[in-house]
Amino acid sequence: MDGIDSASLSARRRRTRDQVLAILAQHSSGLTRASLSRMTGLSASAISDCVSSLRSSGLVAESPAPGSATGRGRRATVVSLVGDEGVVVGIDFGHAHVTVAAATTGGEVLARRTETLDVDHRPSAVLDVAAGLTRECVRAGGHTMEEVRGIGAGIPGPLDIRTHVVRPPTILADWVGLAPADELARRLGHPVAIGNDADMGALGEQAYGAARGLEDFLYVKASHGIGAGIVIGGRPYRGATGIAGEIGHTQLPDAVNWCRCGSRGCLETVVSITTVRQQLAHVLATHQQTLDEHEVPPLSEVADNPAAARVLAEAGRTVGRVLADLVNCLNPSAVVLGGELGAAGEPFAAGIRESVARYAQPASAQAAEVVTGRLGADAEVRGAIATAVAATQLRMTGAV
Ligand SMILES: [Zn+2]
Repeated sequence: MDGIDSASLSARRRRTRDQVLAILAQHSSGLTRASLSRMTGLSASAISDCVSSLRSSGLVAESPAPGSATGRGRRATVVSLVGDEGVVVGIDFGHAHVTVAAATTGGEVLARRTETLDVDHRPSAVLDVAAGLTRECVRAGGHTMEEVRGIGAGIPGPLDIRTHVVRPPTILADWVGLAPADELARRLGHPVAIGNDADMGALGEQAYGAARGLEDFLYVKASHGIGAGIVIGGRPYRGATGIAGEIGHTQLPDAVNWCRCGSRGCLETVVSITTVRQQLAHVLATHQQTLDEHEVPPLSEVADNPAAARVLAEAGRTVGRVLADLVNCLNPSAVVLGGELGAAGEPFAAGIRESVARYAQPASAQAAEVVTGRLGADAEVRGAIATAVAATQLRMTGAV
Protein backbone atom coordinates (compact mmCIF):
# COMPACT_ATOMS: atom_id res chain seq x y z
CA MET A 1 0.00 0.00 0.00
CA ASP A 2 1.46 3.38 -0.91
CA GLY A 3 1.58 6.42 1.39
CA ILE A 4 -1.52 8.12 0.02
CA ASP A 5 -3.68 5.03 0.53
CA SER A 6 -2.51 4.50 4.07
CA ALA A 7 -3.01 8.21 4.88
CA SER A 8 -6.56 8.16 3.55
CA LEU A 9 -7.24 4.91 5.41
CA SER A 10 -6.12 6.38 8.71
CA ALA A 11 -8.13 9.57 8.04
CA ARG A 12 -11.16 7.37 7.41
CA ARG A 13 -10.54 5.42 10.63
CA ARG A 14 -10.24 8.68 12.56
CA ARG A 15 -13.52 9.93 11.07
CA THR A 16 -15.23 6.67 12.00
CA ARG A 17 -13.84 6.89 15.53
CA ASP A 18 -14.99 10.53 15.96
CA GLN A 19 -18.43 9.65 14.63
CA VAL A 20 -18.83 6.64 16.95
CA LEU A 21 -17.58 8.58 20.00
CA ALA A 22 -19.89 11.51 19.28
CA ILE A 23 -22.92 9.22 19.05
CA LEU A 24 -21.96 7.25 22.17
CA ALA A 25 -21.50 10.52 24.04
CA GLN A 26 -25.17 11.30 23.37
CA HIS A 27 -26.33 7.86 24.54
CA SER A 28 -25.08 7.46 28.08
CA SER A 29 -26.78 4.07 28.48
CA GLY A 30 -24.84 2.72 25.49
CA LEU A 31 -25.79 1.33 22.08
CA THR A 32 -25.57 -2.05 20.36
CA ARG A 33 -23.13 -2.47 17.49
CA ALA A 34 -26.14 -2.81 15.17
CA SER A 35 -27.53 0.57 16.33
CA LEU A 36 -24.10 2.16 15.88
CA SER A 37 -23.94 0.79 12.37
CA ARG A 38 -27.44 2.09 11.57
CA MET A 39 -26.82 5.52 13.10
CA THR A 40 -23.46 6.10 11.44
CA GLY A 41 -24.36 4.44 8.13
CA LEU A 42 -21.10 2.46 8.45
CA SER A 43 -20.75 -1.25 7.77
CA ALA A 44 -20.88 -3.81 10.58
CA SER A 45 -17.20 -4.65 9.99
CA ALA A 46 -16.12 -0.98 10.15
CA ILE A 47 -18.00 -0.62 13.46
CA SER A 48 -16.50 -3.85 14.74
CA ASP A 49 -12.93 -2.69 13.92
CA CYS A 50 -13.58 0.69 15.50
CA VAL A 51 -15.13 -0.75 18.72
CA SER A 52 -12.21 -3.19 19.10
CA SER A 53 -9.68 -0.38 18.81
CA LEU A 54 -11.62 1.86 21.25
CA ARG A 55 -11.88 -1.07 23.70
CA SER A 56 -8.17 -1.70 23.60
CA SER A 57 -7.48 1.98 24.34
CA GLY A 58 -9.89 1.75 27.31
CA LEU A 59 -12.28 4.39 25.95
CA VAL A 60 -15.35 2.15 25.67
CA ALA A 61 -16.63 -0.91 27.49
CA GLU A 62 -18.92 -3.62 26.19
CA SER A 63 -21.47 -5.44 28.33
CA PRO A 64 -24.33 -7.86 27.60
CA ALA A 65 -27.61 -6.12 26.71
CA PRO A 66 -30.25 -6.98 29.31
CA GLY A 67 -32.62 -9.75 28.12
CA SER A 68 -31.10 -9.81 24.68
CA ALA A 69 -30.50 -13.52 23.97
CA THR A 70 -30.99 -14.05 20.25
CA GLY A 71 -32.46 -17.07 18.49
CA ARG A 72 -29.01 -18.53 18.09
CA GLY A 73 -28.31 -18.12 21.78
CA ARG A 74 -25.89 -15.22 21.26
CA ARG A 75 -26.45 -12.17 23.38
CA ALA A 76 -26.24 -8.70 21.90
CA THR A 77 -23.82 -6.40 23.69
CA VAL A 78 -24.04 -2.74 24.52
CA VAL A 79 -21.11 -0.45 23.80
CA SER A 80 -20.75 2.53 26.12
CA LEU A 81 -18.18 5.17 26.91
CA VAL A 82 -16.06 4.72 30.01
CA GLY A 83 -16.73 7.72 32.22
CA ASP A 84 -14.57 9.37 34.85
CA GLU A 85 -15.16 10.68 38.35
CA GLY A 86 -15.78 14.32 37.52
CA VAL A 87 -18.94 16.40 37.35
CA VAL A 88 -20.69 18.15 34.45
CA VAL A 89 -23.06 21.12 34.53
CA GLY A 90 -26.12 22.00 32.44
CA ILE A 91 -27.49 25.56 32.33
CA ASP A 92 -30.92 26.41 30.91
CA PHE A 93 -31.84 30.04 30.31
CA GLY A 94 -35.59 30.58 29.85
CA HIS A 95 -37.20 33.99 29.43
CA ALA A 96 -38.13 34.11 33.09
CA HIS A 97 -35.80 31.62 34.75
CA VAL A 98 -32.32 30.17 34.96
CA THR A 99 -32.09 26.48 35.86
CA VAL A 100 -28.76 24.83 36.60
CA ALA A 101 -28.04 21.18 37.34
CA ALA A 102 -24.83 19.35 38.21
CA ALA A 103 -24.59 15.73 37.07
CA THR A 104 -22.21 12.80 36.91
CA THR A 105 -20.36 12.29 33.62
CA GLY A 106 -22.92 9.50 33.08
CA GLY A 107 -25.69 12.14 33.14
CA GLU A 108 -27.19 11.38 36.56
CA VAL A 109 -28.38 14.64 38.19
CA LEU A 110 -26.73 15.34 41.56
CA ALA A 111 -28.09 18.82 42.35
CA ARG A 112 -30.47 21.27 40.70
CA ARG A 113 -31.25 24.93 41.36
CA THR A 114 -33.61 27.30 39.64
CA GLU A 115 -34.15 31.01 39.98
CA THR A 116 -36.97 33.14 38.61
CA LEU A 117 -35.77 36.37 37.04
CA ASP A 118 -36.10 38.56 33.95
CA VAL A 119 -33.60 36.92 31.60
CA ASP A 120 -34.35 39.05 28.54
CA HIS A 121 -32.94 42.24 30.04
CA ARG A 122 -29.66 42.90 31.87
CA PRO A 123 -27.83 39.83 30.47
CA SER A 124 -24.70 40.45 32.48
CA ALA A 125 -26.59 40.21 35.80
CA VAL A 126 -28.31 37.06 34.53
CA LEU A 127 -24.98 35.49 33.57
CA ASP A 128 -23.69 36.31 37.09
CA VAL A 129 -26.70 34.49 38.58
CA ALA A 130 -26.08 31.47 36.33
CA ALA A 131 -22.43 31.36 37.40
CA GLY A 132 -23.45 31.57 41.07
CA LEU A 133 -26.00 28.76 40.69
CA THR A 134 -23.36 26.66 38.91
CA ARG A 135 -20.95 26.96 41.85
CA GLU A 136 -23.78 26.17 44.26
CA CYS A 137 -24.87 23.04 42.32
CA VAL A 138 -21.32 21.74 41.96
CA ARG A 139 -20.79 22.16 45.71
CA ALA A 140 -24.18 20.60 46.56
CA GLY A 141 -23.28 17.68 44.27
CA GLY A 142 -20.20 17.03 46.43
CA HIS A 143 -17.64 18.41 43.99
CA THR A 144 -15.29 21.33 43.53
CA MET A 145 -15.05 23.59 40.48
CA GLU A 146 -11.70 21.91 39.67
CA GLU A 147 -13.59 18.65 39.16
CA VAL A 148 -15.88 20.15 36.49
CA ARG A 149 -15.36 18.23 33.24
CA GLY A 150 -17.79 20.06 31.00
CA ILE A 151 -20.50 22.74 30.95
CA GLY A 152 -23.38 23.01 28.46
CA ALA A 153 -25.86 25.89 28.20
CA GLY A 154 -29.03 26.61 26.22
CA ILE A 155 -30.38 30.06 25.47
CA PRO A 156 -33.89 30.96 24.23
CA GLY A 157 -32.81 32.77 21.08
CA PRO A 158 -31.08 32.20 17.76
CA LEU A 159 -27.37 31.60 18.12
CA ASP A 160 -24.94 31.73 15.19
CA ILE A 161 -22.90 28.50 15.40
CA ARG A 162 -20.03 30.05 13.43
CA THR A 163 -19.51 32.92 15.86
CA HIS A 164 -21.46 31.75 18.96
CA VAL A 165 -23.06 35.18 19.03
CA VAL A 166 -26.78 35.82 19.62
CA ARG A 167 -28.49 37.00 16.42
CA PRO A 168 -31.48 39.18 15.73
CA PRO A 169 -34.45 38.93 15.39
CA THR A 170 -34.88 37.65 18.86
CA ILE A 171 -36.81 38.04 22.05
CA LEU A 172 -33.39 38.51 23.59
CA ALA A 173 -32.88 41.98 22.12
CA ASP A 174 -30.46 42.93 24.90
CA TRP A 175 -28.38 39.80 24.20
CA VAL A 176 -27.76 40.54 20.51
CA GLY A 177 -24.04 40.66 19.75
CA LEU A 178 -23.18 38.94 23.03
CA ALA A 179 -21.24 35.64 23.10
CA PRO A 180 -22.84 33.93 26.13
CA ALA A 181 -20.44 30.96 26.04
CA ASP A 182 -17.42 33.27 26.35
CA GLU A 183 -19.12 35.32 29.05
CA LEU A 184 -19.90 32.19 31.10
CA ALA A 185 -16.45 30.67 30.49
CA ARG A 186 -14.86 33.87 31.80
CA ARG A 187 -16.98 33.71 34.96
CA LEU A 188 -16.50 29.99 35.57
CA GLY A 189 -12.99 29.27 34.36
CA HIS A 190 -14.17 26.40 32.13
CA PRO A 191 -15.13 26.24 28.45
CA VAL A 192 -18.91 26.23 27.85
CA ALA A 193 -20.66 24.45 24.95
CA ILE A 194 -23.68 26.51 24.00
CA GLY A 195 -26.79 26.02 21.87
CA ASN A 196 -30.34 27.07 21.22
CA ASP A 197 -32.88 25.99 23.88
CA ALA A 198 -35.06 23.90 21.52
CA ASP A 199 -31.98 21.99 20.33
CA MET A 200 -31.09 21.38 23.99
CA GLY A 201 -34.63 20.11 24.67
CA ALA A 202 -34.31 17.70 21.72
CA LEU A 203 -30.96 16.42 23.03
CA GLY A 204 -32.38 16.04 26.56
CA GLU A 205 -35.37 13.98 25.40
CA GLN A 206 -33.07 11.98 23.11
CA ALA A 207 -30.53 11.19 25.83
CA TYR A 208 -32.84 10.68 28.81
CA GLY A 209 -36.52 11.02 27.82
CA ALA A 210 -39.25 10.30 25.28
CA ALA A 211 -36.96 10.28 22.22
CA ARG A 212 -34.46 7.67 23.48
CA GLY A 213 -33.31 5.53 20.60
CA LEU A 214 -35.01 7.74 18.00
CA GLU A 215 -32.91 8.90 15.07
CA ASP A 216 -35.35 11.18 13.22
CA PHE A 217 -37.65 13.32 15.32
CA LEU A 218 -38.80 16.85 16.02
CA TYR A 219 -38.82 18.42 19.46
CA VAL A 220 -41.12 21.40 19.83
CA LYS A 221 -40.57 23.87 22.62
CA ALA A 222 -43.86 25.71 22.91
CA SER A 223 -43.52 28.40 25.51
CA HIS A 224 -43.07 32.19 25.17
CA GLY A 225 -41.87 31.52 21.64
CA ILE A 226 -42.21 28.36 19.59
CA GLY A 227 -39.05 26.68 18.35
CA ALA A 228 -38.20 23.25 17.02
CA GLY A 229 -35.14 21.09 17.61
CA ILE A 230 -34.66 18.92 14.52
CA VAL A 231 -32.82 15.61 14.84
CA ILE A 232 -31.95 13.82 11.60
CA GLY A 233 -30.02 10.56 11.45
CA GLY A 234 -29.44 10.67 15.22
CA ARG A 235 -27.83 14.12 15.15
CA PRO A 236 -29.22 17.61 15.60
CA TYR A 237 -29.75 19.51 12.37
CA ARG A 238 -28.83 23.16 12.97
CA GLY A 239 -28.71 24.55 9.44
CA ALA A 240 -25.97 26.62 7.79
CA THR A 241 -25.61 29.10 10.64
CA GLY A 242 -27.30 27.32 13.53
CA ILE A 243 -30.73 28.89 13.51
CA ALA A 244 -32.79 26.10 11.91
CA GLY A 245 -36.14 25.32 13.51
CA GLU A 246 -37.57 28.82 14.05
CA ILE A 247 -41.08 27.55 13.33
CA GLY A 248 -42.66 30.28 15.47
CA HIS A 249 -42.23 32.63 12.51
CA THR A 250 -44.19 30.55 10.03
CA GLN A 251 -46.98 32.62 8.48
CA LEU A 252 -50.54 31.56 9.24
CA PRO A 253 -52.99 32.44 6.45
CA ASP A 254 -55.63 34.13 8.64
CA ALA A 255 -53.38 35.86 11.16
CA VAL A 256 -52.68 39.58 10.83
CA ASN A 257 -50.98 40.74 14.03
CA TRP A 258 -47.46 42.14 13.90
CA CYS A 259 -44.70 39.89 15.19
CA ARG A 260 -41.51 40.95 16.97
CA CYS A 261 -39.61 39.73 13.87
CA GLY A 262 -41.18 42.47 11.73
CA SER A 263 -43.59 40.19 9.86
CA ARG A 264 -47.32 39.84 10.26
CA GLY A 265 -49.25 36.71 11.11
CA CYS A 266 -46.47 34.54 12.55
CA LEU A 267 -47.47 31.44 14.53
CA GLU A 268 -46.07 33.04 17.70
CA THR A 269 -48.51 35.95 17.43
CA VAL A 270 -51.39 33.47 17.71
CA VAL A 271 -50.06 30.79 20.08
CA SER A 272 -47.70 31.38 22.99
CA ILE A 273 -47.88 30.61 26.68
CA THR A 274 -48.93 34.23 27.26
CA THR A 275 -51.86 34.21 24.80
CA VAL A 276 -53.02 30.78 25.97
CA ARG A 277 -52.93 31.90 29.61
CA GLN A 278 -54.99 34.99 28.69
CA GLN A 279 -57.57 32.77 26.96
CA LEU A 280 -57.61 30.38 29.92
CA ALA A 281 -58.05 33.27 32.38
CA HIS A 282 -61.15 34.19 30.39
CA VAL A 283 -62.73 30.73 30.35
CA LEU A 284 -61.79 29.88 33.94
CA ALA A 285 -63.29 33.07 35.38
CA THR A 286 -66.43 32.47 37.45
CA HIS A 287 -69.31 34.71 38.61
CA GLN A 288 -67.41 35.45 41.79
CA GLN A 289 -63.92 35.71 40.43
CA THR A 290 -62.24 37.25 37.44
CA LEU A 291 -58.77 35.89 36.70
CA ASP A 292 -55.59 37.55 35.66
CA GLU A 293 -53.37 35.50 33.28
CA HIS A 294 -50.79 35.20 36.07
CA GLU A 295 -53.39 33.55 38.33
CA VAL A 296 -54.01 30.68 35.90
CA PRO A 297 -52.81 27.43 37.55
CA PRO A 298 -50.22 25.23 35.78
CA LEU A 299 -51.70 24.02 32.48
CA SER A 300 -51.49 20.34 33.40
CA GLU A 301 -53.88 21.08 36.29
CA VAL A 302 -56.53 22.91 34.26
CA ALA A 303 -56.68 20.38 31.40
CA ASP A 304 -59.54 18.49 33.13
CA ASN A 305 -61.79 21.52 32.80
CA PRO A 306 -63.70 21.00 29.50
CA ALA A 307 -63.55 24.69 28.49
CA ALA A 308 -59.82 24.88 29.28
CA ALA A 309 -59.25 21.65 27.37
CA ARG A 310 -60.85 23.28 24.31
CA VAL A 311 -58.51 26.27 24.52
CA LEU A 312 -55.49 23.97 24.74
CA ALA A 313 -56.71 21.74 21.90
CA GLU A 314 -57.26 24.80 19.69
CA ALA A 315 -53.70 25.99 20.42
CA GLY A 316 -52.53 22.47 19.53
CA ARG A 317 -54.43 22.49 16.24
CA THR A 318 -52.82 25.81 15.27
CA VAL A 319 -49.28 24.61 16.07
CA GLY A 320 -50.10 21.27 14.39
CA ARG A 321 -50.99 23.07 11.16
CA VAL A 322 -47.39 24.31 10.95
CA LEU A 323 -45.93 20.99 12.13
CA ALA A 324 -47.86 19.15 9.41
CA ASP A 325 -45.72 20.87 6.75
CA LEU A 326 -42.56 19.95 8.65
CA VAL A 327 -43.75 16.35 8.97
CA ASN A 328 -44.24 16.31 5.19
CA CYS A 329 -40.75 17.69 4.58
CA LEU A 330 -38.78 15.65 7.10
CA ASN A 331 -40.79 12.43 7.70
CA PRO A 332 -39.90 12.19 11.43
CA SER A 333 -40.84 9.13 13.50
CA ALA A 334 -41.99 11.32 16.38
CA VAL A 335 -42.93 14.84 17.36
CA VAL A 336 -42.00 15.33 21.02
CA LEU A 337 -43.76 18.21 22.77
CA GLY A 338 -41.97 20.36 25.34
CA GLY A 339 -42.10 23.80 26.89
CA GLU A 340 -44.92 24.94 29.17
CA LEU A 341 -47.59 24.29 26.52
CA GLY A 342 -46.15 20.87 25.72
CA ALA A 343 -46.28 20.03 29.43
CA ALA A 344 -50.05 20.73 29.38
CA GLY A 345 -50.34 17.15 28.14
CA GLU A 346 -53.20 15.55 26.30
CA PRO A 347 -55.57 18.28 25.03
CA PHE A 348 -52.66 20.19 23.43
CA ALA A 349 -51.10 16.99 22.03
CA ALA A 350 -54.49 15.83 20.72
CA GLY A 351 -54.95 19.14 18.86
CA ILE A 352 -51.54 18.73 17.21
CA ARG A 353 -52.32 15.11 16.28
CA GLU A 354 -55.58 16.24 14.71
CA SER A 355 -53.90 18.85 12.45
CA VAL A 356 -50.99 16.58 11.52
CA ALA A 357 -53.48 13.86 10.54
CA ARG A 358 -55.56 16.40 8.61
CA TYR A 359 -52.83 18.31 6.76
CA ALA A 360 -49.75 16.09 6.42
CA GLN A 361 -49.90 13.44 3.72
CA PRO A 362 -51.30 10.23 5.22
CA ALA A 363 -48.08 8.18 5.06
CA SER A 364 -46.01 10.90 6.79
CA ALA A 365 -48.73 11.58 9.37
CA GLN A 366 -48.94 7.89 10.21
CA ALA A 367 -45.18 7.61 10.69
CA ALA A 368 -45.02 10.58 13.09
CA GLU A 369 -46.14 9.75 16.60
CA VAL A 370 -47.06 12.90 18.55
CA VAL A 371 -46.05 12.49 22.20
CA THR A 372 -45.60 14.67 25.26
CA GLY A 373 -41.97 14.89 26.40
CA ARG A 374 -41.00 12.85 29.45
CA LEU A 375 -38.69 15.41 31.05
CA GLY A 376 -41.16 18.31 31.19
CA ALA A 377 -39.56 21.62 32.13
CA ASP A 378 -36.20 19.87 32.65
CA ALA A 379 -35.74 18.77 29.01
CA GLU A 380 -33.55 21.79 28.23
CA VAL A 381 -31.30 21.56 31.28
CA ARG A 382 -30.92 17.80 30.74
CA GLY A 383 -29.99 18.50 27.10
CA ALA A 384 -27.37 20.96 28.33
CA ILE A 385 -26.06 18.15 30.57
CA ALA A 386 -25.99 15.75 27.57
CA THR A 387 -24.07 18.42 25.64
CA ALA A 388 -21.59 18.82 28.50
CA VAL A 389 -21.16 15.03 28.70
CA ALA A 390 -20.55 14.87 24.94
CA ALA A 391 -18.02 17.73 25.05
CA THR A 392 -16.24 16.07 27.99
CA GLN A 393 -15.98 12.70 26.32
CA LEU A 394 -14.79 14.16 23.04
CA ARG A 395 -12.11 16.05 24.96
CA MET A 396 -11.14 12.97 27.01
CA THR A 397 -10.70 10.92 23.88
CA GLY A 398 -8.75 13.63 22.11
CA ALA A 399 -11.30 13.77 19.28
CA VAL A 400 -11.42 17.56 19.57
ZN1 LIG B 1 -42.31 36.47 13.44
